[in-house]
Amino acid sequence: MSAKAASEVAFCARALKAPRVRELAETLAERAREEGWSYEAYLAAVLGEEVAARESHGGAARVKAARFPQVKTLDDFDFAFQRSLKREAVLHLTQLDFLIEHKNVIFLGPPGTGKTHLSIALGVQAARRGHRVAFASAQQWVARLAAAKRQGRLDEELERIGRLPLIVVDEVGYIPFDPEAAALFFALVSSRYERSSIIVSSNKTFSGWAEIFGDPVAVAALVDRLVHHAEVLVLRGDSYRLKGKGKEVLQGEVDG
Ligand code: ADP
Ligand code: MG
Repeated sequence: MSAKAASEVAFCARALKAPRVRELAETLAERAREEGWSYEAYLAAVLGEEVAARESHGGAARVKAARFPQVKTLDDFDFAFQRSLKREAVLHLTQLDFLIEHKNVIFLGPPGTGKTHLSIALGVQAARRGHRVAFASAQQWVARLAAAKRQGRLDEELERIGRLPLIVVDEVGYIPFDPEAAALFFALVSSRYERSSIIVSSNKTFSGWAEIFGDPVAVAALVDRLVHHAEVLVLRGDSYRLKGKGKEVLQGEVDG
């Protein structure tokens, strides 16, 4: 590339805020000459690199903004260990049709069976594909709403959360809700109904939810809204955390 052309590319790339174009224009031009690419193929390669850089950057920022406790993906999920789920069913979820259709995903099962892992994996996928996501435990969501309510801006907060296409609500049921917390949780679910998606995980089946929320009638209405448009996946089996720890640990009997 002539010095004049190179400096023009550098100038235009700066004006367009396209740093990858500037970085790669020359190297790709050399390759194009060596391999006999058409002008169009060269242009597509340069612009394609810029697009890829932008997409991966935005994805990383959205994954960070979502505040996942760790980043997990389906690549590190062992379907041979978790046999109660069909791999295809989970892979299908990663296509994110549920999100486009404003449906929910619900993971139910005992501790250590992979509920949080899978919730994160779907959330990460959504973030990487361009959707804004927020992750928190049920307790944290309720605390956030309770704080907003005290400041007289509950509706505003629900509206703000409602603009996120996906929220993950982890660990429903680990700690029982008092009536105010239950009402706030209900408000959260109702405000998103048919508008935006929720991924929920719980160690209790829906029949156990009455106990968590203390009010069977309200729970029936809550579950109704949550499940109306939802994929419910029930996980079974042993805890992955105890994998390979041996029967003594599980049975609580130690020799000697
Ligand atoms: P849960 O939320 O159901 O209690 P987690 O998803 O937090 O369980 O899983 C507990 C730990 O075990 C996590 O570190 C998770 O990544 C890991 N884990 C669970 N199931 C699997 C699996 N099938 N393959 C790989 N790792 C798993
Ligand atoms: Mg969990």
